[in-house]
Amino acid sequence: MTDSAIPRSSATELPTFADVLLAAERIRPWAHRTPVLRSRTADAELGASLFFKAENFQRMGAFKFRGAMNSLSQFDAEQRRAGVVTFSSGNHAQGTALAAQLLGIPATIVMPLDAPAAKLAATRGYGAEIVTYDRYQQDRAQICQRLADERGMTIIPPYDHPHIIAGQGTATLELLQQTGPLDALFVCLGGGGLLSGAALAARALSPQCRLYGVEPEAGNDGQQSLRAGRIISIDTPRTIADGAQTAFLGDYTFEVIRRDVDDIHTVSDAELVQCMRFFAERMKMVVEPTGCLAFAAARRMREQLQGKRVGVIISGGNVDLGKLAGYLAS
Ligand SMILES: *Cc1c(COP(=O)(O)O)cnc(C)c1O
Repeated sequence: MTDSAIPRSSATELPTFADVLLAAERIRPWAHRTPVLRSRTADAELGASLFFKAENFQRMGAFKFRGAMNSLSQFDAEQRRAGVVTFSSGNHAQGTALAAQLLGIPATIVMPLDAPAAKLAATRGYGAEIVTYDRYQQDRAQICQRLADERGMTIIPPYDHPHIIAGQGTATLELLQQTGPLDALFVCLGGGGLLSGAALAARALSPQCRLYGVEPEAGNDGQQSLRAGRIISIDTPRTIADGAQTAFLGDYTFEVIRRDVDDIHTVSDAELVQCMRFFAERMKMVVEPTGCLAFAAARRMREQLQGKRVGVIISGGNVDLGKLAGYLAS
């Protein structure tokens, strides 16, 4: 089942690069400046220079902390008192819960019953109240809206909000500050917060850079939308990339993506598993399936990337260790 009415933000303007710079100032005291990692093995495999932005090492294990902290730190006194409510399949929940805890703001998170156990536990661990729902049967947006109406809480959606987009854009801002201009940048795509934020930073700091979004094959609504020139909705896709199980892009994210993104690619779950194995074996790190989308697509484009400087955003590292062991053994 897809969501009927995702709550919209009241803002009407698309975020800009200036908003990304302001977001970077706001989150600086709280967020990690994550490292950019290199791998000779990856460079040799692709015949290119790869720069991996390791957001799996961000606080709470994914870039989502950036957007959540940028949003919550702009709450006024009344909003801080009543708190924040949001819906998420995992990392936005943890990012919001942690940002709220750090700022002393109450948080309620609407999460799917089948979200990874590690993500449910971590969200509770950050002190948030959790309300669960069945993602194949129930409308999370309605549940969220009811909680907002009853308790006067502010809804911060996972991607379609200018403050979220600007916050996520700080990952690419940092990457480009760390590497200088790039020839190509690969960014995973769920609802498009990370990709549209990346577009704002890349178009300002590295205008010649080719910018690619990457989705799971089973959930290529973004690719369909870019080609159709309007937002296409699909049923909740079944893929191991649980951070990209979104059914449609947002209004804000689609506008930026349509304007600034060169193309959207897809990869299979099997390719994601191969990348998880590569990251574990060669780079000694844990990357969640969704965090592998960008590298999996770059691997497919070896021919076009010869000799190029290529950015790859590793978006997160939150995966149940039991599941990870299964993927690595398969
Ligand atoms: C949320 C998430 C994504 C997708 O981000 P969007 O802003 O929804 O496109 C990708 N990877 C990870 C690890 C995530 O948590």
